[in-house]
Amino acid sequence: MTRIVIAGGGLSGVSLAAHLAVADHRHPVVVVDDGTRPIASRTWASWTNRPGLLDAAASRWFDRVRVHVNGETKVLRLGGYRYRVVHGADLADVVERLTRPLRHFTSLRGHVDRVQQDGVVVDGQHLRAKWVFDSVIGPETPPPVDASLAFRGWYVRSERAAFDAETPTLFDFRTAQVGGASFVYVLPFDAHHALVEHTSFVAAGTPEDAAAQEEALSEYLTEIVRTGGHEVERVEHSVLPLRARPTTRVNGSVLSIGAEGGLLKASTGFAYQRIQRDSAAIAESLRRSGHPFDLPEAPARFRMFDGVLLDVITRRPAQLERAFGALFRYRTAEPALRFLDEATSMPQEWRLFAAMPAATYLAAARQRR
Ligand SMILES: Cc1cc2nc3c(=O)[nH]c(=O)nc-3n(C[C@H](O)[C@H](O)[C@H](O)COP(=O)(O)OP(=O)(O)OC[C@H]3O[C@@H](n4cnc5c(N)ncnc54)[C@H](O)[C@@H]3O)c2cc1C
Repeated sequence: MTRIVIAGGGLSGVSLAAHLAVADHRHPVVVVDDGTRPIASRTWASWTNRPGLLDAAASRWFDRVRVHVNGETKVLRLGGYRYRVVHGADLADVVERLTRPLRHFTSLRGHVDRVQQDGVVVDGQHLRAKWVFDSVIGPETPPPVDASLAFRGWYVRSERAAFDAETPTLFDFRTAQVGGASFVYVLPFDAHHALVEHTSFVAAGTPEDAAAQEEALSEYLTEIVRTGGHEVERVEHSVLPLRARPTTRVNGSVLSIGAEGGLLKASTGFAYQRIQRDSAAIAESLRRSGHPFDLPEAPARFRMFDGVLLDVITRRPAQLERAFGALFRYRTAEPALRFLDEATSMPQEWRLFAAMPAATYLAAARQRR
């Protein structure tokens, strides 16, 4: 029997394992992870308008979001979408329930040194496989980085019942612009607890300014949220490379998945829902075509839009607030979320873009060609 190796048991690795577990195939599957980023300590938020295999892992579902843009606070319903929160420990439990009864699914603790055409090298040992799904090494020549998303999040406990437990804040521009276009994002867990994140789109190569992001967070909590005193229980921070151009995912028998496979949406840094869709498509390709490479591609214009937006906001940071204001100007957030999901038609896109400065974007699009 031919073996499948999944290199990395993070979000994309376990999501793919789960989708392969319910697909109709008998290939032995081995998930290899070295434990450097324990899944149990992670949290993902994302929006969706369709049921998914791993929905049971979501601990919260929201039907509205708050945005503060162009001097105005708005609470927007999500229409056909819902916004959900998944804790890594819950995701691992759900995946475990799907894979544990299957004797042909195993996990291996080990460091993937190398990915090659006939398998992977784990701690110096060759593990043979017909197909490798790689979320840790990535393609030899990834596309250029268009910008970086620098974020610093505090898991906060507030003295006062300061957070609206029913409404996440998708973006709030009342914050210092730290090295680039910046906003604050708030994911409430209850009235006293939330993840409060300062997020900046910065030009590629800009050094992280941790002190400035911390100051911005502190100011936001004191002056906007008015916690009346708070404690930072945990910190998360990262600088994600944003690439609008497509990644060459397939290399012979190796398919890059997750962030390494180019699944981070370049204009948002979100990947959770795209990874779920990709995992389902890989499993479906395997069932239908006998190999995992028959994957749908979103129309190329969406990558162009992402690239143009990144070009514009890294040169003129104030344009980010204007762009978000235009996308989220409707009664519900649904048109904007559908666009960010790459599920809009061209006429819908032109309506969304009508409130943006056409000359600025057209000039950036011409330069990008
Ligand atoms: C802090 C943070 C928060 C994020 N929050 C969100 C969010 O809320 N919503 C959203 O949509 N997206 C979010 N993202 C973006 C994206 O969804 C995540 O980066 C996501 O985890 C990507 O999945 P992945 O499988 O590619 O990588 P990971 O989930 O990081 O998985 C990689 C795995 O590989 C293992 N590993 C690494 N190197 C090796 C090696 N050499 N050998 C063996 N194992 C190895 C690690 O231990 C890890 O388990 C976030 C990203 C970060 C960094």
